[in-house]
Amino acid sequence: MWSGLKQTDIVVQAIMAENVRSVRGMNDRLPEEMASFQAIAEHCRKVFSRRNYKELQTPVVESTPLFSRGIGEATDIVEKEMYTFPDRKGRSLTLRPEMTASCARAYIQHGIFKSRPFSEWFYIAPMFRYERMQTGRYRQFWQAGVEVFGDRAPTLDAEVASVLYEVFSGLGVTDLTMLVNSVGDKEDRVIYREKLLQYLTPFSSQLCGDCQRRINTNPLRVLDCKVPSCKEIAAAAPALADSLRDESKQYFHDTCNALQVVGVPYKIDKQCVRGLDYYTGPVFELVSTSKALGKQTTLGAGGRYDGLVQQLGGPSTPAVGFALGMERAMLVSDMIAAETAPSLFIATLGTAAKVHGLALASKLADTNVSVSVEHRDVKLKAQLRRAAKNGFTWALVLGDNEIESGKANLKNLDTKQETEIELARLADNLNR
Ligand code: AMP
Repeated sequence: MWSGLKQTDIVVQAIMAENVRSVRGMNDRLPEEMASFQAIAEHCRKVFSRRNYKELQTPVVESTPLFSRGIGEATDIVEKEMYTFPDRKGRSLTLRPEMTASCARAYIQHGIFKSRPFSEWFYIAPMFRYERMQTGRYRQFWQAGVEVFGDRAPTLDAEVASVLYEVFSGLGVTDLTMLVNSVGDKEDRVIYREKLLQYLTPFSSQLCGDCQRRINTNPLRVLDCKVPSCKEIAAAAPALADSLRDESKQYFHDTCNALQVVGVPYKIDKQCVRGLDYYTGPVFELVSTSKALGKQTTLGAGGRYDGLVQQLGGPSTPAVGFALGMERAMLVSDMIAAETAPSLFIATLGTAAKVHGLALASKLADTNVSVSVEHRDVKLKAQLRRAAKNGFTWALVLGDNEIESGKANLKNLDTKQETEIELARLADNLNR
């Protein structure tokens, strides 16, 4: 033992030390918060599965070029927000900041473009971005999202956007608006780039350092810079939506019409350009005015990205998708925790009772009752105190007498009602 310090003091000191606390912006979710998280995740799964979307998982870590090529070198995410590090062989790896690029990679890598070119996928997974933190914005956060590969039709874009809307309306959120815009395809962008450059060049000395660089690499990204002086200049820039070719305009118009028919309240917002390079047509952002969100207003966002699969080495494949923030969903939703399963606490008096308790617990494996056996050698009163504190539905007391007689007292901890039951028929008695 060290100089008078007790073991527990040392442990507490170690936990409080900066380098063993959780990383800033990456938060624990303790069991009591898990119920709400799981309820929302289950709700998302139901909404997505109703459309026949299938769930997938991809690794948390990917090769860095997947994101720099997929999301775009000159984007905020790639330039400033990625957790990138070399592995032991010096290869650059990145904690995924989003899932669309990973899904496109999986679609190519597993030959899905051949075996099942039309694929509708969804995921619920953690993402990582080194962002400035505030309510609703974290460095590790979870997204639930949808990616539909292989089809191009305005009604599909509207379907995907309406699924995002359905998730939140189903969570009881009422003040929802879908902001929509079109960022146009590659050809539209070539035309627009010229117009934008003409507008931005005279302001170049007033732009932030990043944007002065972006003017040459990717002027479109100046439009979603978060620096106030850049925002002001961007606000008066010619809108991309105004320089779309007729075909792109028509596609966007048809998407909006479909949204209207489906009943999604939408608003055209020409400033909505999304911060990722891969979008190639209609884009959308679902916003809420809920105070719980703090300064964040966007619950989920997405759009069409017809060039990404090809850009990553696959065949030309149209695609559309969105991602929503699980933490933001938790902030705005009044969905109460999913109903927890009924639970039984088996109080035990002696070793034989503990073993018998374990046997009873495995016999109940086919029921939906969760069971906890007391393993401490403490007085019955202390055992029952633990049962009450942990919210068990029932407590059963087991001792030598009960084992011998095959009968025991089952107490309903909600109603305080006690009944003598046959241990062989325990499962039949565990009804609420
Ligand atoms: P994005 O991938 O940037 O289009 O974001 C899609 C959605 O993910 C947003 O609308 C948010 O709900 C959520 N989101 C994005 N970044 C964060 C973050 N840093 N913390 C929490 N949620 C986020």
